[in-house]
Amino acid sequence: MSLFNRNKQPAPASAAPRNSLAELALATINDGVLILNRAGQIQYANPAAVSMLGLNAAENAIGFDASLVLKIESQEGRELPENENQILQAIRAGQALDSYKVCLLSGAAKKRIPISISLIPVNNSDGSRIITFRDITRELAEEGEQTEFISTASHEMRTPVASIEGYLSLALNPQTATIDERARTYLNSAHASAKHLGQLFRDLLDVTKLDDGHLRPHFQPVEMLGLVKQISDEYRVPIGNAKLNYQFGSLEPTNALGASRRLDQVVYGYVDVNFMREIMGNLIDNAIKYTPAGGSIYVNVLGDGDRVLINVTDTGMGISSDDLIHIFQKFYRADNSDTRTIGGTGLGLYLVKQRVEAMGGRVWAESAFGEGSTFYVSLPRITGEEYEKRMIAYNNGMANNTLQGGTQ
Ligand code: ADP
Repeated sequence: MSLFNRNKQPAPASAAPRNSLAELALATINDGVLILNRAGQIQYANPAAVSMLGLNAAENAIGFDASLVLKIESQEGRELPENENQILQAIRAGQALDSYKVCLLSGAAKKRIPISISLIPVNNSDGSRIITFRDITRELAEEGEQTEFISTASHEMRTPVASIEGYLSLALNPQTATIDERARTYLNSAHASAKHLGQLFRDLLDVTKLDDGHLRPHFQPVEMLGLVKQISDEYRVPIGNAKLNYQFGSLEPTNALGASRRLDQVVYGYVDVNFMREIMGNLIDNAIKYTPAGGSIYVNVLGDGDRVLINVTDTGMGISSDDLIHIFQKFYRADNSDTRTIGGTGLGLYLVKQRVEAMGGRVWAESAFGEGSTFYVSLPRITGEEYEKRMIAYNNGMANNTLQGGTQ
């Protein structure tokens, strides 16, 4: 039965809000609002949602599974199957989504509408999920102009900053310059700032590359446990230098997921290996930075149904709940007496989120201040059979759009 065809489905009672002011607000706002029950069935759709989802009337959607209307597209422009659709994954798991940007395929015609979507699971007897979303077509066009400007500016400024950094190093080197102690103090501060500025421009260039479309993921079939272990093991030296312990594949410290699931030894994914390096690098660098000497870092990979679940856990300073909801935003840095002394640009986790989402995944963190942190990366998993098939295609240099990412 078509969702988009009026009169075919007798309308069950709508669970629309009763308060008339609330109804008025929901009927007038430009943002789409959907209320789902625990099973993911639509209980209510406001007029903006009806219009954006390409429905004829709210009644046409009531009682239907959200998967029928929340169809989304990947970066390469293919419709994502349910196991790669992050919105449906979050609905099923009852997990929050915050301003997730994605291209919606609206209505029977699958019109492409870029949206920003948020999901709030409500703690009521129905296990309701409130979904809000808005059309961000204009916002994206403006962002595109900004990104181009930032990318050009960062590129142009990188060279003079590198030159300043270089000359300051020469001035500070006793073999190339003689300076008094007071000048050394000043130049040390200038050198630290020039280094920070250089890092900022490098990070800015990295994040704008994906935003402005200069960088696209190059997917390849991968055995995930081996790949993640290899990348993580490369950090043994910096981890050791920071006087931290490191363990790969450990279920410790126990969390609900780790404790209850057996470690799957063979887990296949379809990922961009360079993106994986950047993601793991940023998460492990952070674990090192924000964990005092004597602490531990655990990295693990699990097969979790049709997902690959990676965790980077540390026993460090942790993140307060106020900061936790913001840490994946551009330039956000938790501001407290511990983090103030630790250098950073606030772009690392934004880059992680960007790369993970470009591969059809999700990233989130669980932490409490003073009690360590766990960062989770969940990516689509492929079967062993699918891995073999894609490997042959990949090795033959035949990986094409049809094969990219589809798990059928
Ligand atoms: P930064 O360059 O500041 O490290 P990130 O985007 O990587 O930027 O991280 C954003 C903020 O999130 C950090 O400033 C820090 O406050 C917090 N954070 C990230 N990772 C951790 C961690 N493992 N433990 C504690 N806090 C963290």
